[in-house]
Amino acid sequence: MTAISGWGRYPIIDSEMIHPRTADAARRATAQGDQAVARGNGRAYGDAAIGIRQTIALTHLNRIRTFDPKMGRVTLEAGLLLSDVIATFLPRGFFPYVVPGTSFVSIGGAIAADVHGKNHHSEGGFGGYVDSLLLALPTGETLLASRDEHPDLFRATIGGMGLTGTILEATIRLRSVETGWVVQRTIVADSLGAAIAALESSESVTYSVAWIDCLARGPHLGRSLIFLGEHAASEQLDEKQAANPFPLRKRFLSMPVDAPSFVLNNRTVAAFNELYFRAGARKVDSRTLLPAHLHFFPLDAIGNWNRIYGRRGFVQHQSVLPSKNAEATLAEMLERIARRGGSSFLAVLKKLGAGSGSLSFTMPGYTLALDFPIAGDTFSFLDELDELVVAAGGRLYLAKDARQSRATFEAGYPDLSFFREIRRTINPSGKLQSRLAQRIGV
Ligand SMILES: Cc1cc2nc3c(=O)[nH]c(=O)nc-3n(C[C@H](O)[C@H](O)[C@H](O)COP(=O)(O)OP(=O)(O)OC[C@H]3O[C@@H](n4cnc5c(N)ncnc54)[C@H](O)[C@@H]3O)c2cc1C
Repeated sequence: MTAISGWGRYPIIDSEMIHPRTADAARRATAQGDQAVARGNGRAYGDAAIGIRQTIALTHLNRIRTFDPKMGRVTLEAGLLLSDVIATFLPRGFFPYVVPGTSFVSIGGAIAADVHGKNHHSEGGFGGYVDSLLLALPTGETLLASRDEHPDLFRATIGGMGLTGTILEATIRLRSVETGWVVQRTIVADSLGAAIAALESSESVTYSVAWIDCLARGPHLGRSLIFLGEHAASEQLDEKQAANPFPLRKRFLSMPVDAPSFVLNNRTVAAFNELYFRAGARKVDSRTLLPAHLHFFPLDAIGNWNRIYGRRGFVQHQSVLPSKNAEATLAEMLERIARRGGSSFLAVLKKLGAGSGSLSFTMPGYTLALDFPIAGDTFSFLDELDELVVAAGGRLYLAKDARQSRATFEAGYPDLSFFREIRRTINPSGKLQSRLAQRIGV
């Protein structure tokens, strides 16, 4: 037994770890699974990638099978990390259509969570760029699923949190890019209304995201820095950048130990937010060229940054709210967070479109992601936020969740009966099971 957790380091659970080295071994592990679930790189925050008794870790399945440069189409084993896809294909002029806020996710994890990026409002989620999947079922069968073959299983697997089988391989499309640089523009919004208006009026921009100072109150409630980005064309590079048209990430620093609990408190977070806001405000309306990894994955520069929240770990609360209720509910959530004293470095707001899978998190509206270190009243406070989300017709992201109730989950996912039906068919003896699935009753 090994004690494992997700990125938030809560909960920590004992599980038997299985490390298949071939696709056939992964197929067998799935067929023989004793309440098992697949695990990619463990970047889901909570308990999604933890089996009840067994966890099938897929990081050894990391080969690139085929690449068609004309179509930008690539077949990959599911344990390969997006960071490796980028390191291999960016110098050849290709980049994934959708990337989340860290590149250290596996292809299987990106599909199972139907991850969204800063372009969800304009280009949809990761699942939209998956052509087919090789899926190992608990029955022992291996199926190729696509929009034409086994379409229901395909739709359930995208965003299905590993609960329809183990993805062994996937064929995905990459976009062609002229350079590995991104033109980034920063806008300052001095209130929540201004932030939403800025995201709405930037709809035609490919990448957009707002960083909110979640301790600001009163007329400045929701004050934000909004980052807009586009892939840079060759002619936009200066001489120095043109000499290095596809910059890749270098070695990174690592957080060597858990931060002591006094590091993060209302005063330090407020000071950080003030400095960050002022630094961003100085760049307003200027255009900066950044290497893609700095635009998309700024936190990847610090390894193990999850230790900043200390030994007890942290939970993320990521909700999405339908457009019509978004502003009022977000204002109420931010007001309560500011009143409580958030201790959250991270408050990120994005505009989303519809998802591709039956259990996908995304829906047209706004998503707010917040980190909370675990303390005495954290869970009861988050229950309060859940009530606001449910009342607004929203839902919580399963890849970030460690604590929502079954009732909150059921209220937010209207396609659940379709998903449960598929699961009854492919998982009749309940071999496939995760902590998340057990907790929320999938
Ligand atoms: C810093 C940070 C930023 C993030 N930013 C974003 C963001 O902007 N947008 C976003 O959408 N997400 C974001 N995430 C969440 C992350 O993208 C997802 O949790 C993703 O699923 C993690 O991939 P993984 O390989 O680590 O999967 P794991 O955490 O190992 O697993 C996640 C889920 O995928 C399933 N799974 C994994 N591999 C397979 C497989 N081969 N077959 C079947 N199921 C499988 C697991 O069972 C589990 O349910 C972020 C996470 C971090 C840590």
